Amino acid sequence: MTTTASAGVAAAADEGVAAAGHGDGAGAQAAIVIAGRDPGARAILQREVSKRYGEDYQIVVCARPAELAPWMRDLLAAGVPVALVIGGVGAQDPDGIDVLAAVRAIDPTALRVAVVGWGDWDSERSVFDAIALGRIDHWVTAPVQAPAEEFHRSMTGFLREWGVQRGGGFEAVRVIGERWSARSQELRDLFSRHRIPAGFYDATSRQGRQMLADLGLELPELPVVVLRFGAERPVLVNPSNVEIVDAFGLMTPVSPGEVFDVAVVGGGPAGLAAAVGASSEGLSTVVVEHEAIGGQAGTSSMIRNYPGFSQGISGATLAQETRRQAWAFGTTFLYMRQANTLSRRDGHYRLALSDGRVVASRTVIIATGATYRRLGIPALEDLQGRGVFYGAATSEAPAMRGRNVFVAGGGNSAGQTALHLARWADRVTLLVRAQSLADSMSDYLIRQIGAAPNVDVRYRVQVADGTGTGHLESLMLEDTASGARRSVPADALFVLVGSQPRTQWLGEAVARDQWGFILTGPDLPAGAGHRWPPGRPPLPLETSLPGVFAAGDVRQGSVKRVASAVGEGAATIPLVHRYLARAAAGREPLTRPAPPPAIPPAHDRDSAGGRGDLTYAP
Ligand SMILES: Cc1cc2nc3c(=O)[nH]c(=O)nc-3n(C[C@H](O)[C@H](O)[C@H](O)COP(=O)(O)OP(=O)(O)OC[C@H]3O[C@@H](n4cnc5c(N)ncnc54)[C@H](O)[C@@H]3O)c2cc1C
Repeated sequence: MTTTASAGVAAAADEGVAAAGHGDGAGAQAAIVIAGRDPGARAILQREVSKRYGEDYQIVVCARPAELAPWMRDLLAAGVPVALVIGGVGAQDPDGIDVLAAVRAIDPTALRVAVVGWGDWDSERSVFDAIALGRIDHWVTAPVQAPAEEFHRSMTGFLREWGVQRGGGFEAVRVIGERWSARSQELRDLFSRHRIPAGFYDATSRQGRQMLADLGLELPELPVVVLRFGAERPVLVNPSNVEIVDAFGLMTPVSPGEVFDVAVVGGGPAGLAAAVGASSEGLSTVVVEHEAIGGQAGTSSMIRNYPGFSQGISGATLAQETRRQAWAFGTTFLYMRQANTLSRRDGHYRLALSDGRVVASRTVIIATGATYRRLGIPALEDLQGRGVFYGAATSEAPAMRGRNVFVAGGGNSAGQTALHLARWADRVTLLVRAQSLADSMSDYLIRQIGAAPNVDVRYRVQVADGTGTGHLESLMLEDTASGARRSVPADALFVLVGSQPRTQWLGEAVARDQWGFILTGPDLPAGAGHRWPPGRPPLPLETSLPGVFAAGDVRQGSVKRVASAVGEGAATIPLVHRYLARAAAGREPLTRPAPPPAIPPAHDRDSAGGRGDLTYAP
């Protein structure tokens, strides 16, 4: 049973469970649940948590962890969402990890946090193992002094993570559209990746219809986007991405005739790191980003292998922090614009953008990354956004509650997506063409998938077809060895197969391998010397065009990880300085690209293809 007090601070409860919180009733506030047998540790936790969060959350204390499950069910039945379950581990709570692990089956969205006593190294080890297996989400060192800022730094991070994942609350933007349409899904994805609080309303629902009527819109083209901040609060009917970003008023104008020191194409980890480095060193810098800041990394629900974030960091948070950093240093951002061509005129590089403008720059960093291959199955292409999604599409995950979901792909991104979806979906099936995951996925993810009760892996299988009227209903799966086909019911398919470099826009401008990955530095073909200004070989990350560099996933031989992309992006900046110094001294004449090279590419585990001869991409 639970009790609710009207004061903000929970009364200490040595036995059973106690709840407290301000506000408008038990159902209105989310709960933070504290579980553990040690009365002293529990009292300290309760005091600290109540002091800081008692205004905004109900603080529920459970002294008998065995009773946690029924209490949580009671809370949920009473309409109280649970944000965090923070549970003791160690000598007094030897089953602490099991207790926390069991929470997932009751409430898949509550974050499970183990509280470790300071210096309890043995418990820390088992906690790390439990995180690696996905049995708990986070850990925190128990508060040892007041004020316990280190403890609260972690706590606010966990609460923020839960809040972002849950959505709701303040809506800077409202989208009214068809629930299952590709455009509605694209907008949900874009706002979520940019960390813009947005509410989505189904235009066919009573609320959606009322909102349209209130806006004076009768049968408008959908979706309708309402900006709810600033003086004008524009209502945009079926807007393009460019119209949305222009209405946001975020773009810095670029004066005609302006020549930047560095133009970065692509605002993923590599491009953002290059922008931070360049602008922090006083180089005038512009970033051109076609879709969403953060690139692929921005779609990652939780990046656990990026150095410096021991508890992991969501890709969108990492991206937005880096974007702000670059912006603070003076980087100009051109959002929702695609670079369509790269050329050189009057001694400067020129990027022709999709909005018709041309950006001039002394140097260019190509950081356009990679994207997932399309399945190319007409029935499934028609269902995109209506049950078929390319990439992780994390914004769709809560809508998968209770559904039967498939993820195609055997790489880290597919594994991470399957685990994220498993928090909501009834069952997730990973469809892998290979015989094992060992060659394509990190060990920690393979172990988490093995430990997840509602994730299955099917090997030697590929998607051959699908059906659905209005929404995906079934998939035709094909055994890659025998060719045998079987139809299975499916509510959703997330496709993360074969990444392809985004280099088609470059035409013939820059040398690439046969899969389209950009060749740089020593990978540029022998005999290309005539392409270079006399007296120097290409710089390490330099492409076949002097002063044009490539970084991150788009580069042949790159590691296809966030940290590597960031490292390469940052590493281009000293090279840019060297190039600019030579150019200023008049030692960098441009030469024409050489004919196709003929050396074998480095083996690239995550790339779309295998070994082969190099050619220029068409
Ligand atoms: C779901 C998922 C989970 C992942 N999880 C992890 C993880 O946990 N750890 C890890 O290390 N790695 C992870 N990765 C891989 C990692 O995200 C990538 O290696 C990394 O994002 C590559 O960075 P990048 O900047 O090179 O390219 P990208 O992230 O691909 O960014 C390229 C950007 O360029 C833009 N662009 C492309 N063409 C143009 C153009 N012509 N004009 C303007 N803009 C353009 C794109 O819109 C994109 O924003 C994950 C990937 C995915 C998809």
